[in-house]
Amino acid sequence: MSALDLLAALAGDEAGVPTIAPGCADRTDRPGSTCQHGVRLAREPLDLLNPLNPDMPTTRARKPALQARLQRENTHDEIYEKIFVAILEHRLHPGTKLVEERLAEIFGVSRARVREVLARLAHEQIVEMIPQRGAYVAKPSIEQALDVFEARRLIEPAVLRRLIETLTPEKLARLKQHQELEVDARRREDKRAVVRLSGEFHSLAAELAGNTALARSMRELSVLTCLMIFLYDAPTSTSCRPDEHSQIIEAIARRDVARAEKLMLEHLDHIESGMKLEAATEEVDLEAIFKS
Ligand SMILES: [Zn+2]
Repeated sequence: MSALDLLAALAGDEAGVPTIAPGCADRTDRPGSTCQHGVRLAREPLDLLNPLNPDMPTTRARKPALQARLQRENTHDEIYEKIFVAILEHRLHPGTKLVEERLAEIFGVSRARVREVLARLAHEQIVEMIPQRGAYVAKPSIEQALDVFEARRLIEPAVLRRLIETLTPEKLARLKQHQELEVDARRREDKRAVVRLSGEFHSLAAELAGNTALARSMRELSVLTCLMIFLYDAPTSTSCRPDEHSQIIEAIARRDVARAEKLMLEHLDHIESGMKLEAATEEVDLEAIFKS
């Protein structure tokens, strides 16, 4: 990918960027959105810097330092989100080299700042750091993809269980409101919005469940799912099936944990079966390939 393409990808301009694969292809300009199947692009909470936080220093002398730090954190988060969203939306493809100097130029920050952001992405397994070569958008293997689905099968039923335990009318309203947006996007045949909203459903559920560790895990697993969809999506696959989220919401509304869990596991099966993940275990018959 050339510097111009990288710039275009980060700017959300798809000109010059290869055609995106189905699934996870929605782009968005706002933080708090997600990719296919669940990644919330929320900013990291900056509790120490929250003006409402009583622990926050309030003396005048410390204010400029605080402001500077806040600004620095925001820049860090902004760059992080831009790269993150570009990856989720398949504007930056798995295996793309993320050149520090270019990113520093594009974002108008130091290379050190870019390095910090890349380190954070690497920590989340979204970016791979290769010694002497640099940072690359991760390319999950089929084995990793199978691991991600195994983890999602463990985490997502737990998310629903906790969500149902802590369910309030407000939480249910948020899920339903989200579902309405998804239905509306499908009606308008806005594929990008459908993909984004169907992904957001999963992260919204994790967020509303109220366990930050579960929500964070879900977020990391979801971005890996996005990269996997890019790499392994079967051409016939669609995003989350149209009616499955609404069925899960119905089960949540009835507080029927068993049904909600069962529906979620079936839903994950459908997503996984939309990918071609069997290649790793398949013995390739070289003779058959070259004989004819
Ligand atoms: Zn889904």
